[in-house]
Amino acid sequence: MKITRRAVLYIGYKCNLNCSFCYYHFMKNKKWKPILIAKIEALIYRVIFGNNRLDLTGGEPTIYPNIVSLVKFCKCIGLRPSIITNGIALADNNKVIELKKAGVYDYLISVHGLNNVYDEMVGSKGKFELQNIGIQNLLKNDIPFRANVTITKFNKTQLVDIAKYCIDKGAQVVNFICFNPFYEWEKLSKIDFQERHSKIAPYLKQAIDILNEKQIETNIRYFPFCLLKGYEKHQYNFYQLSYDSHEWDFMSWHRNYKLVIPYLINRFVLYRPKEKLSHYYYEDVNIDAKMLYLKKDKCNNCSLSNICDGLKIQYINRFTDEELDPYSGNIINDTTYYIKEQFKICD
Ligand code: SF4
Repeated sequence: MKITRRAVLYIGYKCNLNCSFCYYHFMKNKKWKPILIAKIEALIYRVIFGNNRLDLTGGEPTIYPNIVSLVKFCKCIGLRPSIITNGIALADNNKVIELKKAGVYDYLISVHGLNNVYDEMVGSKGKFELQNIGIQNLLKNDIPFRANVTITKFNKTQLVDIAKYCIDKGAQVVNFICFNPFYEWEKLSKIDFQERHSKIAPYLKQAIDILNEKQIETNIRYFPFCLLKGYEKHQYNFYQLSYDSHEWDFMSWHRNYKLVIPYLINRFVLYRPKEKLSHYYYEDVNIDAKMLYLKKDKCNNCSLSNICDGLKIQYINRFTDEELDPYSGNIINDTTYYIKEQFKICD
């Protein structure tokens, strides 16, 4: 399996919605990134890290004042642009056409719920309808889309219907993403929309089954392997993420430009392969994400311990690890052990 060549570029954190579960919910003074900085970052990804795909994310990229210029620039330097969006602004068909002309290849739309559930999750009435119109505009203009679904207590019972909706609308890929209590969230002992993994699992399995029947690529992120037994090939924890072509190269993701010089030395003087470097930078340098996870006795005695993140610290403090069901048998060290069997759209 190959390491993803997709980079991610954050254009700032301003947004036209107020999702209750947003990673940046507590962030004050949200600003846009200056266009010059955004273009320099894109150039670094293309020229130094060798990326050839790019996800533009935020905040909400479709309302970024310089989005057209940025998309054109990325396309011009060989970074195929995708936009991660709530899709609300795409209800304006002129915007869809303008961005298509600029060079947007596809969209990754956040379909966190249906009808009122969606409106409540994003904090504003009538927004599901606008998103729906936005998706129809993509279909009308022959633009592909993939879907992200953040799983919470409030949409867990809709997962099957969301899967059916995505099939009906022609989504190429559906990603189910377990809410991660990162940033300020990690300090909160109780989060009202956070649900136990074991209570989500039955709905998630049904949704995967339905998508599998239609041969829609389905990825599950940040969910313990042992609570989706039989569905492991769909699961991407941090150890697997960089093998998902729809996910991000750790080098762009962590945006630690102090690593550029060591990266260049490793890559072009010591000739270390990019694949090894991506993992090296995750395992040995970018420890931020790993520091948010914890493995107690159950995980330490599980044969998947070396390829699974365990549980988030905030989660384990709230719910304990009693629901986990460790694997017995030989220790597995190959991070691609399950995912190499997955049906994948190779884009
Ligand atoms: S390491 Fe822990 S969370 Fe992961 S599969 Fe094993 S028991 Fe479950």
